[in-house]
Amino acid sequence: MVRRVIPLVAQTAPLPVPMHAVGEAPGPLHDQLQRPLRDLRISVTDRCNFRCSYCMPKEVFNKDYPYLPHSALLSFEEIARLARLFVAQGVRKIRLTGGEPLLRKNIEVLVAQLAALRTPDGAPLDLTLTTNGSLLARKAASLKAAGLNRVTVSLDGLDDTVFRRMNDVDFPVADVLHGIDAAQRAGLGPIKVNMVVKRGTNEQEIVPMARHFRGTGVVLRFIEYMDVGATNGWRMDEVLPSAEVVQRLSAELPLVALDPSAPGETAERWGYADGSGEIGVISSVTQAFCHDCNRARLSTEGQVYLCLFASRGHDLRGLLRGGASDADITQAIAGIWQQRSDRYSQLRGAGMLAPREKRIEMSYIGG
Ligand code: SAM
Ligand code: SF4
Ligand code: SF4
Repeated sequence: MVRRVIPLVAQTAPLPVPMHAVGEAPGPLHDQLQRPLRDLRISVTDRCNFRCSYCMPKEVFNKDYPYLPHSALLSFEEIARLARLFVAQGVRKIRLTGGEPLLRKNIEVLVAQLAALRTPDGAPLDLTLTTNGSLLARKAASLKAAGLNRVTVSLDGLDDTVFRRMNDVDFPVADVLHGIDAAQRAGLGPIKVNMVVKRGTNEQEIVPMARHFRGTGVVLRFIEYMDVGATNGWRMDEVLPSAEVVQRLSAELPLVALDPSAPGETAERWGYADGSGEIGVISSVTQAFCHDCNRARLSTEGQVYLCLFASRGHDLRGLLRGGASDADITQAIAGIWQQRSDRYSQLRGAGMLAPREKRIEMSYIGG
């Protein structure tokens, strides 16, 4: 298949930043579908040391790829300032992501700045990070010391050959497992492990992964392979529906359905019938969860995206660097969220999607 290099940011101009919020700000915000703003995902780099074919295929993300120059990235101070203003308007959970967030130099400094934030009620945030685990063994203790609460580690299989092929940089499983151990020892739990399931690629790893993590306190989550971005050559026949994952697992390890942990939680929870832990399934393709999606995404260069499948973001970096006051930025965030009506997966499921602009890459806005 011929893959074309696409520019990092959508070719089209950023969306306008509305400056007039409806109602009072700051305070809890609701969008057009009455969804609150609760979860902020912050991408701290567009670079990665892996080349997972479903996310950053080698043919596209090669040495000629136009990664962002350092000056385009939000500084830690800029990120922390925006995060504080988002928290004032309802955000309770912050997830650092990327690209590979542990590649960002001195990431612990940012973690410490975010860990110091408090909600209007004086409560600390739920501060977490998603990583491919490659640098976790080295960094777990310093991240914990900086104030990180938890980590989610991505791991697509236990078989070394399968995993090396999927990360496409020949990275061994053992090093990721060491990272998970180090995170557990450092107290960065409960740890979640995300496995993207691709039919015909790593489906045979479902049961071994469950057996490996059962009884360890690690919550394994199976994610349907999604049609994010424009470069991964996604095909529906490579999606293994979560219902089939649950069916295959329960044939070997009996499962019972568990209640959802919180509104807006993407994973459907299942417990092992013998009480040895739980797993989750994230059915982004076969069962849309847009109705209570409470996530905003801040890209590496300071654009706010309101949906994983969006093509364009709202440029907050322009406001930051143009000398806007906290009050101006607060109004902008409120206006952006209050105009939101995105529900891509739901519309895709209902066959109601019109032709659209090229979508942004997952490595740019984070998972
Ligand atoms: N590099 C880090 C990592 O891999 O954990 C953080 C960024 S990565 C974009 C965040 C999450 O998105 C990972 O768990 C990854 O497996 C998931 N992901 C990336 N592309 C995906 C796709 N096409 N479908 C489903 N999940 C995907
Ligand atoms: Fe890198 Fe994570 Fe994307 Fe894999 S999923 S290429 S580790 S950003
Ligand atoms: Fe949220 Fe967009 Fe995913 Fe729907 S498709 S759950 S709105 S990120």
